[in-house]
Amino acid sequence: MNNGITIAISKGRILDESLPLLARAGLEPLEDPGTTRKLVFDTNHDAVRLIIIRAADVPTYVLNGGADLGIAGKDVLMECDSDNLYEPLDLKIACCRLMLAGPKGIPVTPGRLRVATKYVSTTRDYFAEKGQQVEIIKLYGSMELAPVLGLSDLIVDLVNTGNTLKENGLEPLDNIADISSRLIVNKASMKMKQEMIKPFIARLAGAAG
Ligand code: AMP
Repeated sequence: MNNGITIAISKGRILDESLPLLARAGLEPLEDPGTTRKLVFDTNHDAVRLIIIRAADVPTYVLNGGADLGIAGKDVLMECDSDNLYEPLDLKIACCRLMLAGPKGIPVTPGRLRVATKYVSTTRDYFAEKGQQVEIIKLYGSMELAPVLGLSDLIVDLVNTGNTLKENGLEPLDNIADISSRLIVNKASMKMKQEMIKPFIARLAGAAG
């Protein structure tokens, strides 16, 4: 498959919203990824295959050439060393906001604020820019639980409707970044396989509108 292209896609909401977009761009997996535990999918184009992997692994695969292209959330890209990737398209899918949130009212604590998040690097940069020293607690999910159980004062997490915050007695405090999914491209692949990749980017740009 060295002459073909491999596209890595984040599981979950990004996959669900990518498939209709890829179909509009003329690319469809031969099997429905929702009905099997397979990780690699052939497509209606002999030279193109899809791999379906965890969100945080998409940039890693594309950076290291395991995949030529990827579809990943901006939240994940902000957390990784994405300077070495091309990011030619905002696909405008899986849109949400990366927000600072906490219990109602600004917390008053004697020490440093404790902030629970999966987004350690982005959170560190956000508070550094404000000149505020905080203790960051790394979690892998269900950040909304941390203030409820006294593990942290605040959280940084993705917010879509805001229902999860509300249902856990939290409220949004600041919008750190608007998030959507992006197409990313391995720099060497862009050079070596441009006759396949450039027309694909153009078709996807048309489909993304
Ligand atoms: P909501 O209750 O609609 O605000 O959604 C918030 C929950 O969904 C949180 O647990 C988020 O981590 C998760 N979430 C929201 N938007 C996204 C997204 N685009 N991709 C992945 N997870 C998301």
